[in-house]
Amino acid sequence: MAKSRHPSTILAHDSSYSFGAVVPPIYQTSLFTFESFDQMESAFVDPDSHHFYSRGNNPSVEVFEQKIAELERGEQARAFSSGMAAISTAILAQCQTGSKVVCVKNCYPDTFKFLTQLAPRYGIEVEFVDGRDLAAIEQALPNASLLYLESPSSLLFHLQDLRAVAALAKQHEVFTVIDNSWATPIFQRPLELGIDMVLHSASKYIGGHSDTVAGVLVGRSADIQRINSLEYTVLGGKLSPFEAWLLLRGLRTLPLRMAAHQRSALEIASRLETHKSVARVNHLGLASFPQAKLAARLGGTSGLFSFEIDADEAGIKRFVNRLEYFKLGVSWGGYESLVFPAVLGFQRRDALNPFVRFDIPKNLIRLNIGLEDPEDLWADLEAGFAALEEL
Ligand SMILES: *Cc1c(COP(=O)(O)O)cnc(C)c1O
Repeated sequence: MAKSRHPSTILAHDSSYSFGAVVPPIYQTSLFTFESFDQMESAFVDPDSHHFYSRGNNPSVEVFEQKIAELERGEQARAFSSGMAAISTAILAQCQTGSKVVCVKNCYPDTFKFLTQLAPRYGIEVEFVDGRDLAAIEQALPNASLLYLESPSSLLFHLQDLRAVAALAKQHEVFTVIDNSWATPIFQRPLELGIDMVLHSASKYIGGHSDTVAGVLVGRSADIQRINSLEYTVLGGKLSPFEAWLLLRGLRTLPLRMAAHQRSALEIASRLETHKSVARVNHLGLASFPQAKLAARLGGTSGLFSFEIDADEAGIKRFVNRLEYFKLGVSWGGYESLVFPAVLGFQRRDALNPFVRFDIPKNLIRLNIGLEDPEDLWADLEAGFAALEEL
């Protein structure tokens, strides 16, 4: 007769059925066990062939990584707990004391903070260049370890000619990394243009539902494995299995969402351009966009753009307070429309503030066009503009 087991022993062990599940299960486990000394020994000999511990590898996270690598046409991806974890890890992996990073102006504000406040502590130097100016980039490249790109750039949506920039960086043997959060692999695949590594804040369009913070790096296997074996493991910014599952759920609708964001944002940007209270619109899809020819190389435009409103701070306050559907908020890429008035970024008034350093116009308003009906969104903006007239 089979020996009866104690309930606490029974509860401690599950059989791992997959039930032919159509959606990958969430492997919410911290560690993975081995059946024998020999099996564990073979895992130590070839760590990539086994799962050990979820700070290293987790099957749910791996499913997400494989999907995003394939979308970006990269060999391998590595997921992180935030876009900033991916960004800081990618930069640190390429630098040591004495290294120089060349970074485009108007990068994401916390990338700027990392490069100007944390990296210098370790003797890593940064030079900011106008990403629209190939000659300026070329001049900065000699002796650099890393060229950090973001195309389009935050807030002002300046583009870099990625193919030309990648070729220049190769000549100077400088590693290239790009923040591709805005375009997503649906509209831009920088690895195909010669860029070495792509990163995303997956908190934005990749997740797409404003319910998780995550990041990811994609590149050649050798580069990802180098990061895996050191920075990823010891800095510990891993993605949780549940959040990987949320991202996989978000990814399923990425192409549909991007098409809808593009359609609505372009419609609203075109209407804003002719509005009497709007001084200029920074949207890649408009004929008036100064880099329109370069913009046409992208597969499309997303739902995030900015415009300059013809109003002072008091007017901007009345405008945003009147909006009903556009919620005041940072971040973007989710279902819901958001408004961010750049004037709020000027609280700190020194060169460590990127808004000050990069001369962001104080009348700049950034809009995240969500998936609501664009006519409702336009009516909301018109109500906001009407508030400008009231005193
Ligand atoms: C939000 C954002 C980041 C940072 O990502 P987190 O997931 O918030 O850490 C980086 N780059 C861009 C362009 C972003 O919008």
